[in-house]
Amino acid sequence: MSHHLSSLTQSPTLILQKLESDLCARHDVQLDIVRLDLVDETISGNKWFKLKHNLSAARELNYKRVLSYGGCHSNHLHALAAAGKRFGFETIGVVRGDEPLTYSATLQDLLKYGMDLKFISRERYRDKNAQGSISALEKEFGEFFLIPEGGSNLLGVKGCAEMVSLLWDQPATKIDYLVLGCGTGATLAGAVVGAGGRCKVLGISALKGADYLNDNVLSLISSFNRSQSCAGLSIGEWRIIHDYHFGGFAKIKPELVQFMDAFSIDTGIPVEPLYVGKTLFAVYDLIKTGQIPNGARIVVVHTGGLQGVRGMRLQMQKQRDRI
Ligand SMILES: *Cc1c(COP(=O)(O)O)cnc(C)c1O
Repeated sequence: MSHHLSSLTQSPTLILQKLESDLCARHDVQLDIVRLDLVDETISGNKWFKLKHNLSAARELNYKRVLSYGGCHSNHLHALAAAGKRFGFETIGVVRGDEPLTYSATLQDLLKYGMDLKFISRERYRDKNAQGSISALEKEFGEFFLIPEGGSNLLGVKGCAEMVSLLWDQPATKIDYLVLGCGTGATLAGAVVGAGGRCKVLGISALKGADYLNDNVLSLISSFNRSQSCAGLSIGEWRIIHDYHFGGFAKIKPELVQFMDAFSIDTGIPVEPLYVGKTLFAVYDLIKTGQIPNGARIVVVHTGGLQGVRGMRLQMQKQRDRI
């Protein structure tokens, strides 16, 4: 395993896998999936791309410690803890909610990777970005490089933009639609600038009533453009679809679990329900209902997050029992 940060800043090869099905054949669509779940063994999915420039910046500014935030199943904290261990940063994870009696599989991994955990109440978590709240953490842990929740800052957007632009490394690439799940929308913002108008980008919201998302993505795109001083950068059509949250974040339904089980059996590709399962369900439904037109070339992003499945097993089994 390399401990050099250069392996973080290098661009990995993206694995694209063709998804064939009767549905795709009937609608004459070509569907490929980008396997970000395979990008790294432990620093999984889109979180890898959001972290790379953040950690490079931390290193450049001589920070030894990196702090960030997340829930007790957080893919972001998991990726950060693993990256910290590999690249030689101390990591601090500020976790939403009181310390549980039994640690989730994710929390156990965070400890294993050597992350310091700080549990704060849900109320305090809501105020986490207030200066007072950050000063208190600095008093407790010393100075640190702060990465916001989900790694969703400008440096995160930059990494995602680079990832998406790799899709056009092959000159013959033609994509009509790029589809990916969104939570904070930073990955979507990166996808929009990375695509640079070469395709339409659709974000599938994993949260209910996520009206903030559009503004989030817009402001990330415009600050990205300002930071690159290329205001003339081409921005293509993009849109967030709110019809596939299945009741809200981390909520699932029998038909989603049924779809995911069938998908994994058909393709051999493991998926997690919070983002990837919902996004794939959406893609097939958009094809079925003609919202993505016949003949389209579609690329859907598997944003990873498989470690989080461990926290969803029981809930998924309950849904299967209801089928
Ligand atoms: C965090 C995460 C997302 C959401 O990314 P945002 O940039 O916050 O929109 C999507 N998929 C998976 C698997 C994730 O872990």
